[in-house]
Amino acid sequence: MVTKGDMVYAWTPDSGLLEKAECGGAVTALLKSALENKVVDAVLAIRKGVDLYDAVPTIITDPKEIGGSAGSLHCGTTLVSKLIVKYLGGASNQKLGVTVKGCDLMGILELAKRNQLKLDNLLLFGVNCGGTVPPVPARKMITAKFGVDPADVVKEEIDKGQFIIMTKDGQHKGISIDELEEEGYGRRSNCRRCLYKVPRQADLACGNWGVIGDKAGKATFVEFCSEKGAKLVDAAVKAGALATSSADPKGIAIRGKVENAMFKLGEKWRKHDFSAISENLWDVIRDETSRCIKCYSCIDNCPVCSPIKIELTSGTTMVPVGYLPPSPMFHMRRFAHISDSCINCGQCEELCPMEIPLALFSHAVRVEADATYHPKLGSAPYKN
Ligand code: FAD
Ligand code: SF4
Ligand code: SF4
Ligand code: SF4
Repeated sequence: MVTKGDMVYAWTPDSGLLEKAECGGAVTALLKSALENKVVDAVLAIRKGVDLYDAVPTIITDPKEIGGSAGSLHCGTTLVSKLIVKYLGGASNQKLGVTVKGCDLMGILELAKRNQLKLDNLLLFGVNCGGTVPPVPARKMITAKFGVDPADVVKEEIDKGQFIIMTKDGQHKGISIDELEEEGYGRRSNCRRCLYKVPRQADLACGNWGVIGDKAGKATFVEFCSEKGAKLVDAAVKAGALATSSADPKGIAIRGKVENAMFKLGEKWRKHDFSAISENLWDVIRDETSRCIKCYSCIDNCPVCSPIKIELTSGTTMVPVGYLPPSPMFHMRRFAHISDSCINCGQCEELCPMEIPLALFSHAVRVEADATYHPKLGSAPYKN
């Protein structure tokens, strides 16, 4: 009988699924078991679209189809939190199993605080996250740094600090992430600053860090973060849908060390990114946002931004309509109302067609305000 706080190695006995899965296939096996046993009505997961640069959020209700979502897409810069509100009624009338990175989870928690979704109806499968690589720059990086046609890559992974690709003719090539990032490639800049590596506010936190010995690469490291998560694993093991063994204490220690090293790296990037703009933040914001074409993409998927519809003819708009670029107040107003709860998910920046570093600005404001007004925030459940 496992309980909250326990840690195990877990793997699926289904060899077909194990082949497709990232590690031991525990996440997919548990999602399948949750669907089969009606613990959830549907699953919201990420699956490969036309290629591995195309991560597609997908709803699955048939347990036979769950295998299609196995595997980790490191170019999957998706954020699922607002999709639950927009397309799934905030999970108010159905139970959903959702796979979440740290930012997906933070977005969900922010939306739950705003009563936009029903947290009790979610079963959250956290995946540890070292970062995601934006898909278009990833293709450029693979051409420039690996000397490979991105269309020939059939699998990618991040392991031991390297971005590794496998090509259709069976070649493996790996380059250190540090080297890639020094040359402007690698993870998104918000990911470099991210400190939420093991999503312990989910029901389960699953990853590859800490799996050592003969299970390395063949099992998933699972930490039970709630009784709900522990119960699900127990039921799956009893039904023969999942196998587990105790996590090796040396593996647990290694996982802790890697997590700490990632915090230090995140702090280093924060210092690097924020110091470059701290002298004249508002001037930089004004200059950069002067490219804005007012497409509203930065608002659309931001989990902490919920615009209220204003009748354009009523004369109540703060910013005059019909002008490009919009008045700087368009952005100042946005930063003023979102930055206190910005989770550094990077969506605003990722989706901006004018490549304005929006997440950098709102994250910088958030971190500075926290340091000034909430110096004890180190004890908060997540640091963003
Ligand atoms: P599987 O059974 O293969 O299931 C994988 C699940 O991941 C699927 O449900 C799928 O929907 C989901 N998924 C795939 N891509 C994404 C995505 N982009 N965003 C959200 N969900 C996705 N573990 C570590 O210990 N250290 C790391 O540094 C680390 N970095 C990661 C970075 C990314 C972008 C992702 C997605 C995962 C990362 N993981 C990391 C977790 C690890 O790769 C495995 O997902 C985890 O161990 C579960 O393995 P599994 O075989 O049980 O999963
Ligand atoms: Fe992962 Fe954090 Fe980047 Fe989200 S913001 S993809 S959790 S590193
Ligand atoms: Fe995410 Fe940008 Fe919104 Fe911050 S402002 S929560 S980085 S979308
Ligand atoms: Fe302007 Fe970029 Fe936001 Fe579009 S996404 S409104 S271009 S800042």
